[in-house]
Amino acid sequence: MRALEKSKPGEGLWMIDAPVPEIGPEDVLIKVRKTGICGTDIHIWKWDEWAAHTVPVPLITGHEFAGEIVELGRSVTDLEIGQRVSGEGHLIGHQSRQSRAGKFHLDPGTRGIGVNEQGAFAEYLRLPAFNVVPLPDAIDDEIGAILDPLGNAVHTALSFDLVGEDVLITGAGPIGIMAAAVARHVGARHVVITDVNPERLALAEKVADVTPVNVASEDLADVIPRLKMKQGFDVGLEMSGNQRALDQMVENLVMGGRIALLGIPPGKSPVDWSRIVFKAITIKGVYGREIFETWYKMIAMLENGLDVRPVITHRFKADEFRDGFGAMLSGGSGKVVLDWS
Ligand code: NAD
Ligand code: ZN
Repeated sequence: MRALEKSKPGEGLWMIDAPVPEIGPEDVLIKVRKTGICGTDIHIWKWDEWAAHTVPVPLITGHEFAGEIVELGRSVTDLEIGQRVSGEGHLIGHQSRQSRAGKFHLDPGTRGIGVNEQGAFAEYLRLPAFNVVPLPDAIDDEIGAILDPLGNAVHTALSFDLVGEDVLITGAGPIGIMAAAVARHVGARHVVITDVNPERLALAEKVADVTPVNVASEDLADVIPRLKMKQGFDVGLEMSGNQRALDQMVENLVMGGRIALLGIPPGKSPVDWSRIVFKAITIKGVYGREIFETWYKMIAMLENGLDVRPVITHRFKADEFRDGFGAMLSGGSGKVVLDWS
């Protein structure tokens, strides 16, 4: 089968001919139809310090996918051949206290497909049946292929009650933009999204009803009186990983405001600790998706009017993967989807 592999340390990925994975009794084999390129894949492409420390080579990369079940392990009874599926790319253990309490997304032994284990940028993917999420007809393969990052957006956005709230999202990358669409869908009052990249802010306006603020040239505080908010934002969703963005968020939040942090800063970054204390701010770190509550809620929202399709800005054949990575590296793209069929 064709597969996109990190074959050796250094920049790039290579299309190789790999054996079709053999499945165990509790696995399924999925014929991959569409995959999404993630920021994580860009770290692996560039082979930065994080990737060099984390990713074993050789490794088939990729973790955002949709496809069709073509083989069932002999113990798998609740799935069917021919079923259209996506799936949770975090492989968890079942022995930790968190897992045994049903908080699967908090298992400390989590391993990622395409990061620690063989991934989804391939014609076939082996996945534990436990991780499979069947797709309803209303969700086609390209939306199925971006459920992993949409799940990050949903997990973060649903961390706090957003009904009637004024929400600040810092970072208009694909995940920030999808979080804006989710915040709108669940009934936020104002949704303001910041970035320093005008292309990204323009895309955000296409996908969701948001107020864009380019913090490279505008003062975020000016938007508060303009939108007739009293003190500031009720809830902040940090989706840039940028230190200045978090500072601005704390500064422009109301007393007792709430922050969900998804963005990952490049290293240790200072925070204005006393400001957080005196404003009585609640902060929650968000990792991955809740397994499987996020999947359940995200699919329900997609079946009931949530539309994130315009966040997909580029579509390529898998063999044109260099163009796909090029679009991602340009910095202005939304989601880039590769077609493996
Ligand atoms: P992305 O890099 O495409 O988007 C980040 C955006 O932030 C960019 O558009 C960038 O221009 C913008 N930005 C930079 N400086 C800014 C500033 N000062 N103010 C506002 N915006 C600024 O990333 P993405 O794929 O959309 O993912 C969002 C973040 O979530 C990333 O940091 C990613 O690493 C992280 N992430 C975390 C998890 C998790 O489980 N916690 C999972 C997936 C992604
Ligand atoms: Zn991803």
